[in-house]
Amino acid sequence: MNNNRLPRLKYHSPKTIEEVLKIKQTFADDTVILAGGTDVIPMLKRRNVTCGHVINIKRIRPLKQISFDGKEGLRVGAAVTLREIADHPVISDAYPLLGKAVQSVAYNQIRNMGTLVGNICVDNKCTYFNQSAFWWQSRPDCFKRDGDCCYVVKGGKQCYALSAGDTVSALIALDASLTIVGSEGEQRLPLEDFYTGDGKNPHKLDHNGLVTAVLIPPPISGWKDGFMKKSQRGSVDFAIATLSIRLRNNGTGLEEVRIALNGVSSRPIRAVKAEQYLIGKPVDGETIAEASRILLGETTPLSSIGSPVQVRRRTIEAMFTDLIEAIKG
Ligand SMILES: Cc1cc2nc3c(=O)[nH]c(=O)nc-3n(C[C@H](O)[C@H](O)[C@H](O)COP(=O)(O)OP(=O)(O)OC[C@H]3O[C@@H](n4cnc5c(N)ncnc54)[C@H](O)[C@@H]3O)c2cc1C
Ligand code: SF4
Repeated sequence: MNNNRLPRLKYHSPKTIEEVLKIKQTFADDTVILAGGTDVIPMLKRRNVTCGHVINIKRIRPLKQISFDGKEGLRVGAAVTLREIADHPVISDAYPLLGKAVQSVAYNQIRNMGTLVGNICVDNKCTYFNQSAFWWQSRPDCFKRDGDCCYVVKGGKQCYALSAGDTVSALIALDASLTIVGSEGEQRLPLEDFYTGDGKNPHKLDHNGLVTAVLIPPPISGWKDGFMKKSQRGSVDFAIATLSIRLRNNGTGLEEVRIALNGVSSRPIRAVKAEQYLIGKPVDGETIAEASRILLGETTPLSSIGSPVQVRRRTIEAMFTDLIEAIKG
């Protein structure tokens, strides 16, 4: 029994990205990145993650910066906290959707420590997996613990743990991308493409990879946006669903639309079919009802984290109707 204490770990606190990569190359999959630590520390204590080396990235100066220019847009370093984002004047002025999503994560103490990139990289959640090692002694391991069964989708052939970061739908709706450094140098990846859909290994990040920043294109006038989160217990909880919508209306119909969801399935969802349906149409009761039907068709919600599938489906439907009505203008 481990009494939920941290295991013995070697703690690294590098001051450069190069040092991080060197440590990762040396110890490979025996390492874990520590940003705010609000998710990874409890996971280490419960033995949901096991490794011998923790790499703290919060002393690396370039990762602690937020920068903005009218041509390139916004760049948020991987060690920037959710609090720093919520308090940043450019973000509240030019990216209110991101500000709202950040404020929906947990509560002040978590936002003071937790980072935006940590929220993007947070491991997928499951009521079963996120139990202690002691709890797991009473049953066979599931796929996410290298076993061969799933307790959520009986007879399932893979892990269906839920993609959980509350800021992710907003970032996808804002066309965000990530910069990632690793053994093949630096690459830029649209955030939408960062997720695999496999609850066991949910991110396209190998053992050598480090996300260094989130990039968001410059704001363009004429867009309206909205964010909504519903959870079982209110804000201090992982979501039944988070929904972000952005749209541009030319007076007779919609010119551009983004609809993104998270917390409902093993990967975030960009509702491309519902978006395409809405283009050129006025936002009225009939189009909202049809778009909502299309959205549910491309969503495949799962039962987990305090919500059976039917509740999750109805919640998404209600959230979509309320949010698009509120922002259509
Ligand atoms: C009580 C409580 C309530 C919570 N409520 C919510 C909630 O309402 N909504 C929500 O979304 N989350 C919630 N969380 C989860 C967590 O606090 C947040 O998701 C937070 O944003 C994680 O950020 P962090 O910097 O603390 O991540 P960490 O815990 O440091 O890291 C999270 C994961 O990302 C990896 N990682 C971090 N940075 C990088 C990087 N640069 N490159 C590669 N991998 C990286 C880590 O290795 C780890 O696997 C809650 C946690 C607690 C304890
Ligand atoms: S979804 Fe299934 S395999 Fe994945 S963590 Fe939960 S019980 Fe395990």
